[in-house]
Amino acid sequence: MGKVAINIVTGSLQPQETIVGIDLGTTNSLIAIVRSDTHEPIALKDVDGLALVPSIVHFDAYGNITIGNPAKELLIAEPERTIYSVKRLMGKSYKDVSKDSGFFAYHIFDDDTDALVKIKVGDRFNSPIVLSSFILKELKKRAEHILKTPITKAVITVPAYFNDSQRQATRDAGRLAGLDVLRIINEPTAASLAYGIGTKHKEEKTIAVYDLGGGTFDISILTINNGIFEVLSTNGDTYLGGDDIDNLLVKHWQTQTGITDDELKTYKSLAQQFRMKAEEAKIHLSANDIFNGEIDGQTVSINKHQFNEIIKPLVDRTITSCGNALKDAGIKAAQIDAVVMVGGSTRVPFVKESVAKFFGRELYDKLNPDEVVALGAAVQADILAGNNTEMLLLDVTPLSLGIETMGGLMDVLIPRNSKIPNKAGRQYTTQKDGQSGMRISVFQGERDLVADNRKLAEFNLTGIPGMPAGLPKVEVTFLIDADGILKVSATELRSGVAQSIEVKPQYGLTDEEVENMLLDSLTHAKDDIKTRALVEAATEAQQMLDTTEKFLLKYREALTEEETIETNKCMQQLRDAMEAKDKDRIHNATEILNDVSRPYAERVMDSALKDAMRGKSVI
Ligand code: ADP
Ligand code: MG
Repeated sequence: MGKVAINIVTGSLQPQETIVGIDLGTTNSLIAIVRSDTHEPIALKDVDGLALVPSIVHFDAYGNITIGNPAKELLIAEPERTIYSVKRLMGKSYKDVSKDSGFFAYHIFDDDTDALVKIKVGDRFNSPIVLSSFILKELKKRAEHILKTPITKAVITVPAYFNDSQRQATRDAGRLAGLDVLRIINEPTAASLAYGIGTKHKEEKTIAVYDLGGGTFDISILTINNGIFEVLSTNGDTYLGGDDIDNLLVKHWQTQTGITDDELKTYKSLAQQFRMKAEEAKIHLSANDIFNGEIDGQTVSINKHQFNEIIKPLVDRTITSCGNALKDAGIKAAQIDAVVMVGGSTRVPFVKESVAKFFGRELYDKLNPDEVVALGAAVQADILAGNNTEMLLLDVTPLSLGIETMGGLMDVLIPRNSKIPNKAGRQYTTQKDGQSGMRISVFQGERDLVADNRKLAEFNLTGIPGMPAGLPKVEVTFLIDADGILKVSATELRSGVAQSIEVKPQYGLTDEEVENMLLDSLTHAKDDIKTRALVEAATEAQQMLDTTEKFLLKYREALTEEETIETNKCMQQLRDAMEAKDKDRIHNATEILNDVSRPYAERVMDSALKDAMRGKSVI
């Protein structure tokens, strides 16, 4: 903050902007940044020191909306007005969720179609996207309050198994909340980033990310190779998490206190107290051996041993999933280099012990497991902001990168979706005799004409020694390093003259702009092919005209008067055709000029050769 940076893409000065990382969780959400002074990722906390915002939205009868902890307190008292686990509905149609509808205490409007689900509260319908945007807005507000600066850019995480429509829904939620979502990244990828795993050059690792949250369990097996993360397999249970542990505890205390299921159904506030107390006990037991408490005047208790017994079947199920994930990935537990623990429920010691035993190794569990995903998102955000040059940018090029060639055509050196880091090179030459400089203009985009693409940078390669056109060999090299910085260099190979420039291709382009540019290229594909053909024909024609003119100047007396007249006529026809921008006419006129000039050109060349031979003594 307070720093000023130059945006190389636009050339404009801009204040260094904080890009935030957001974990939009099923149970809890939070927002994190990388501190500009210490370069450490931190979760942003409220005045009470709490980083987690329960992903719960409450609507009162007047349409007022509360988010987070205040909403959580109303969960059981006002089930119809308190929306939780909305992440489960992201990007889903009514058909998708029909089998799960028993899980939700609120009203999912159900018309059994392929349309996206909506949730009814009072007479108001809300899409999961809108509900998620409320949570994101709350997080944004928190960050702005703490950082005292507007926040407009974010990286948001999603489960590795999220499909395109779920990812798109998440992106839309961000947009609705006033956030430009620079990137959607996988939660397990974020978790490993937070630990700095896989961020070094040439690093090759296979890791397991074990994520036991509030309502879901995910195990992901990833490989990381030179900064590129690849998901080998995912497994898990979408209805297994800390909530289930709480429910088992409630059951346990029901036997202790004699409170029946029916009573809990009738007395909602009692049920709420049971649930809250159960969570409290569970959290207490993560650090202590015994819990004693009171619910509605009755004492409840549980010790660690009992607790472990109760949850063992649940933990065993997660271990079975781990085995299946390994099997799907085709690897053995011993081949895993690191096991990363994610999700609040992995604070339970028995869970840690079981996972460590299964994989036979120590766990990455030093960071807060419920913060680690957001911290990793912040790390990715920091890389995108260009603040972190030590780490790899884990990505592919969103748009093609190339340079302008004759006639304003785009010559692509690195196509879109190429993995980063990347290197590509191509040779070019001069158009004119004695040409001493060459302009290298770097563009980004999918259109055939550079005019329709986005210019990133431009420089001149100067000092090329005088040579006939076509003789210099100018090698242009594009190098995108692991930090996402594009370095363009041009070298004239015969003389060794060289020049280079650095560009940051990603920064400054939103995903939306990238999408638009791609869309544009599709819409204009046909036009572009036509234009390219015309430009190519015109380029060839211009070269033909230039050579002919040069020839006439030098060898005028070698031509008959008829030949000169004919040649001038053909040249004029070619110029007219170029003027008319008629590709076929240009083509024909070029051919004709070529045919007319060939005989005398050969004649002149022959005699020049004979002259040269005569001058030499042949032994
Ligand atoms: P999600 O990824 O589903 O949004 P989190 O990673 O925030 O969820 O995990 C939330 C779960 O973690 C809740 O069930 C909560 O009770 C549980 N949890 C938080 N802290 C502890 C703890 N110290 N011991 C056991 N469980 C905990
Ligand atoms: Mg989570």
